[in-house]
Order: sequence, then C-alpha cells, then structure tokens
Amino acid sequence: MRLKTKLSASLIFLFLVIVLFGVLGIYYINKLSNDAQLILKNNHESLVYSNNMLSALENIKTRKDAIQNFSDNLKKQQGNITEIGEKDATDELTKNFNELLANPDDPSNYGEIRQSIIQIQQLNEMAILRKNSIANKTAETAKVILAIIFTILTLVAFTFIYNLPGIISNPIASLSEGITAIANKNYAKRIYLKQNDEFNDLANAFNVMAGKLDEYESSNLAQIKFEKSRIETIINQMRDGIIGLDEKRNILFLNALSEKLLGLKESDIVGKYAPDVALKNDLMRTLLQERDGKEELKIFADDKESYFNRDVLNVKNNEKIIGQVIVLRNITPFHELNEAKTNFIATVSHELKTPISSIKISAQLLNDKRIGDLNNEQKELSNSIYDDAERLLKITSELLNMAQVETGNIQLKIQATNPKAIVEQSLNAVQFQAHQKNIILKTNIQQGLDLINVDLEKTTWVLINFITNAIKFSSEKSTIDINVFVKGDSIDFVVNDYGKGIDEKYLPRIFDKYFKVPGNLEHVGTGLGLAISKEFIESQGGTIWVQSKIGEGSSFGFAFRKI
Ligand code: ADP
Repeated sequence: MRLKTKLSASLIFLFLVIVLFGVLGIYYINKLSNDAQLILKNNHESLVYSNNMLSALENIKTRKDAIQNFSDNLKKQQGNITEIGEKDATDELTKNFNELLANPDDPSNYGEIRQSIIQIQQLNEMAILRKNSIANKTAETAKVILAIIFTILTLVAFTFIYNLPGIISNPIASLSEGITAIANKNYAKRIYLKQNDEFNDLANAFNVMAGKLDEYESSNLAQIKFEKSRIETIINQMRDGIIGLDEKRNILFLNALSEKLLGLKESDIVGKYAPDVALKNDLMRTLLQERDGKEELKIFADDKESYFNRDVLNVKNNEKIIGQVIVLRNITPFHELNEAKTNFIATVSHELKTPISSIKISAQLLNDKRIGDLNNEQKELSNSIYDDAERLLKITSELLNMAQVETGNIQLKIQATNPKAIVEQSLNAVQFQAHQKNIILKTNIQQGLDLINVDLEKTTWVLINFITNAIKFSSEKSTIDINVFVKGDSIDFVVNDYGKGIDEKYLPRIFDKYFKVPGNLEHVGTGLGLAISKEFIESQGGTIWVQSKIGEGSSFGFAFRKI
C-alpha cells in the first residue's frame, strides 16, 4: 500500500471512529431522553390527572368548581391513554362519573369512581416502573456496546501507534544508512524494503544511483589501470633509465634499463629506502649524491660501456614536492660522435703540424740572404706567410692539446719545479708580443718560494696563455702584472691586466670549450686556450680562477700546493 494511502486510511479511520462514537452517543442519549419523556408524558401526567380527580372528588359536595375540575382532568386523561387496560379503566371512570352527575346523592358511585382512578394510577405506576427498567436496560446496553467498541478501537489505535512510526522511520533509517555507505565510497550498498510505497520507490532510485556509481567507479578504475600499464610500458621501453622515488625517498618504480644498469630487480627494491639500497650499490649511491647534473657517468652494462647524464626532476603537487624522478639520459650516441670528432681533430691537427712547420721554416729561409735578395714586396709577402703559418701552428697545437684533453691522453711529466722557472720561460715566449704593443710586463715574484710538483711545460703553457690574452686585451703602452706569491699552503700565479675586462655574466662560461666573449670581433681565436688551461691545471691537482670587471681589467690565476 502507498504511504499516502496508508496515512489517508489511518486518518479516515480516526475520523470514522470519532463519527461512530458521536453517532452512537447521540443515539443512546436520545433514546434515554425519549424514554424519560414518554414516562413523563404518558404516565406521570396520568398520575397528576388522577390525583387531581381524587382531590376534586373529595370536594365535590363542598365546592362548586370541583365537578368542573374533575371533568377537565377526566378529559385530559381520556386524551392520554397509553397503557393496556387504561382505556377500559378510563371508560369505566367516565361511566361512573356520568352516573354520579346524574345521581349525585348515590354514595356507591364515589367508591367505584375512586376504584377506577386508583386502577388508572396503578396501571401508570406499573408502566413507569416497567419503562424505567427498559431505560435502565438501554443505558446498560449502551454502556456495553460503547465499551466493546472502545476496546476494539483502542486495540486498533494501539496497533497504529505501534506500527505507523516504524512505517516511516524504518525506511528513513535504511536510506540514511545507505547514503552514509555511498559517502564512504561503498558503492556495492543496496537497499531492499519490504513495503510497496513511496519509500520503496526511493530505495529503488537509490539502488539505481548506487549501481551507476559502482559502474562508473569500476570503469574509472579500469581506465586508471589501463593508463597505468600504458605509462609503465612507455617507461619500460624508453632508452633512458628512469627511477621514481616518493617524498621519503622510498623507491616507487624503475624501468627495465635502470634494472640492467643497477644490476637489481625492480621487485627486490621497490618500496625500499633508496639510501639503504645505495649502501650496497655504487651506481645508486652516485645517483643519490647531490651534484651537478651535467656530469657524465660511464656505466658498464650489457657487456659494453655506455654514457649517461643524470637528471633529477622534482615531482610537485600544489607546490609541494611529492617525489623525485631520476632520469639517466643515455648520451652514448653523442659520446661516440664526440669521440669521432675528437679523433678526427687530433688526426688532422697532428697531420697539419708538420707541413705548417715546414711552410714556416721555408718562409723564414726565404728571408735568408744566402738564398738570394728579396725586394721589399717579396719580403712583406714572406713575412706574412711566416705570421700566418705561426698562427696556424698555434691553432693546430691548441686543437691537438684539446683532443688530448678530451681523450684523456694528457701525458704529464710531474716533477719538483721552481715557480720562478715557469715565469721566466713564459716571459721569454711573450716578450716579443709585449714589445710589439709597448706593454710593460711587471713581474713580482716573492722571494724564497718553495718548489711545486707540476709539469713544467704544461704549466708554462697556461701562464703563456694568460699573458698572451692579457696582451691581446690591453691597450698599447699599458702594464701587465705577473705576481707569484705564497697564500696559505699554496703558491699562486696571477696575471693582472688593465684592459677592457669581461662582463660578469660571461665569467661562469669563460673556461668552457670554444667559448669566446661575444663582441670581440677584432680578436680571432679558437676559444680553446682557457678550456685547455683549466684541464692542464686541474689534471695536476691545481685550481684555476678568474676575476674581472668590465672596463677595469681582468685577473687570471692558478695555484698549486707547496711541496
Ligand atoms: P682564445 O683562443 O679565443 O683567446 P681563450 O680560451 O684563451 O680563447 O679565451 C676565451 C675568451 O675569453 C676570449 O675569446 C676572450 O673573449 C676572453 N678573454 C680571455 N682573457 C681575457 C682577458 N685578459 N681580458 C678580456 N677578455 C679575455
């Protein structure tokens, strides 16, 4: 039954109960009042008339109005005959009264009249008693019927009171339980109600909704799983090594290449704390170290050497770091190409060195008077051939040096060396250039310097490069200071010039290969000198630096520990 019908039925029932009780009450009260009315009208009045007639009879001889009074009451009694036998008694009384009127002195009539009146009185008194008992019975019946109906209705009302709240509250409780389950993502929850009403419709609608949510959730889950396996496949097939860490540095995943490089299985280390894994794995230790990402890693795996660049990417969610991805970028192909280029440069520069040297010697020989005199133009040409050959020789030797540095083929002859010797040899090499620009080379070498363990030739090469650059970027007739002094437990070599200086933003790249400060159009060079200098100094355990301010000049220096 529908809830609306149930509620309407209950209210109609209550209404009918009220109506039934009202009707029954009115009916019984009416009946009792009618009974009382009848007693009053039918019998009580007859008693009054009888009493009046008796008192009129007593006074009939003494009072003149007694006859009239008697006859009035008799007439009323004649009009109020209601009981069986009352009519006979009244007719007898009328007959006797008429006889008394005809023969007023006959005393026998008085007795008969009195007899008839008493009979009427008795009949009415008995009727009163009888009717009273009927009224009592009616009241009794009404009491019983009303009590029975009251009991039945009380039982029905009690059933209503007991059941009706449950009809409403039980489904509401089930529905709210279901809604809570859905809120907790328990989409398998269904509600089954036994009643066939609006609540059942609601429960069915709820079940449909839960079903749809369940379907959506599982399809979403399937989609997420599919996406996950797709991403895993992509990551696994990548030629770069990829390792994922969470914010606590526990290992989340690693791809097939990382497994190979680390020599570890994903299933063995996933979920483990990366620094713990690093305790037994050198590569993992290297990867976790915080250092410059540009550094090249040479890894031996799969029976061959490969080169990788390490890149660490922070994974962020709402500006909060929630993990890290370590990418081992495979740069082996670039490395191989670079190696081929270096080998090519090394071969070419090596092969060019001999012919360029012989061109240089030939140009020098042309100037020799023993071969023959040259006119001025021929002299100029041979000098220019000589200068160009020398520049070419310098370039090829720089290229060769760089190739050696790149292939790791620097042959160092480390020996205890006097710093003064390095400065003197350098000055010899650059004196001519300085002289050409009228530049004064001021040397300031601290007295009693300790020896240092270096390769004399390579270190001199670096100092020559510094002074040559200083001459190139200084104006004519300026000064260049060459200072050698003790600083702590090191010996520093510093070349100060007062030339054009270098813009601060280029300083971090000044020792990079092939780097030349943009804008120096008049200056031709390879951009390799400082890069080779850095390699030469650092490969001997020294340090190299630069300080410069645009317009104020530059300081290039290197330092070695004293022996
Ligand atoms: P290059 O063969 O071009 O001289 P280097 O490696 O020796 O190569 O120098 C790199 C660049 O650094 C130069 O091109 C020049 O722009 C800048 N540089 C080097 N030394 C100085 C200096 N003393 N003053 C100003 N700029 C300099």
